Amino acid sequence: MSLVGLAEGWLGDWLFAVMGLGATGEAKRKEGAVARALAPSGVVRETAPSGRRRVSDFSERLRASARVIASSAIEFFYPAFCPGCCQTLLDEASLNEFGLSLACPLCEACEQAFLPARDDMCFRCGLPVGPYVDASRGCTACRRRSFSFQRVIRLGLYRDELRAACIRSKEPGGEPLAAALARLLWCARQEALQDAGIDLVVPVPHHWLKRLIRPHNSAETIARVLARSLKVPYAGHILAKVRLTPDQSSLPSPRRRRNLAKAFRVRRLSWVAGKTVLLVDDILTTGTTANECSRALRRARAKRVVVAVVAVVPKDAV
Ligand SMILES: [Zn+2]
Ligand SMILES: [Zn+2]
Repeated sequence: MSLVGLAEGWLGDWLFAVMGLGATGEAKRKEGAVARALAPSGVVRETAPSGRRRVSDFSERLRASARVIASSAIEFFYPAFCPGCCQTLLDEASLNEFGLSLACPLCEACEQAFLPARDDMCFRCGLPVGPYVDASRGCTACRRRSFSFQRVIRLGLYRDELRAACIRSKEPGGEPLAAALARLLWCARQEALQDAGIDLVVPVPHHWLKRLIRPHNSAETIARVLARSLKVPYAGHILAKVRLTPDQSSLPSPRRRRNLAKAFRVRRLSWVAGKTVLLVDDILTTGTTANECSRALRRARAKRVVVAVVAVVPKDAV
């Protein structure tokens, strides 16, 4: 039996037990009372054997329903299809291999498509650098820029299949794909993320009005997966966007910083003070949003801020 099957059975039995209708243990001893509660009054007492059988059938049907509910819940969080291509059904062996503790595994084809071809990147901005370039102080694109964050950890570049996946993960219902991308980011950059000494994971927030219109924020989903993988607290509530601003992508680069000036505020200073914060977003374009969030976190006395994103937009695409 797969782990999913085991979990379904367990969750189904648990739901059943919570409903107080189990046929074992305490529930079994209460069978008479349950029968009286479920059957039309008087029927059970007059025809006890057939009444028990009816209750038993009813119990079985309830147990089956509980299993369906449990199965649907597991399917939602751990779909048995690849969230990347929505076509490949993962076989039982794949599910066992990945295990339930790992969120939303991708099929091998999607995994290969999303992983970057080359790993040489600038630690400050995440842009690709040549293998023989000295990028110890940043690359030519970022060396003269001052950032409030210390470094960027990313999965790949915002192009081709990864770009399409990032766009789809933002759409309603994109949570499984966002979680799968986060899982891949963790698998590909586990060493860098662990070495960063993270104390707290914080997603780049949306303004409350934007949340009303679009409740799904893929940065939050990615941040939750990374926090769980790093085994550190997820703090989705401490950084807030307090000013509604035009979408950054609609503005030319020079106006982006002014657009976000004083747009973010830390709500609980005590959570951040002296901590190394992992700031999480799905995409890093010019770095302005991450920088403004980091500035707010640093003003709240965070020791340092490390940025983690699924994809960095290449310079020629900004
Ligand atoms: Zn796939
Ligand atoms: Zn750089």
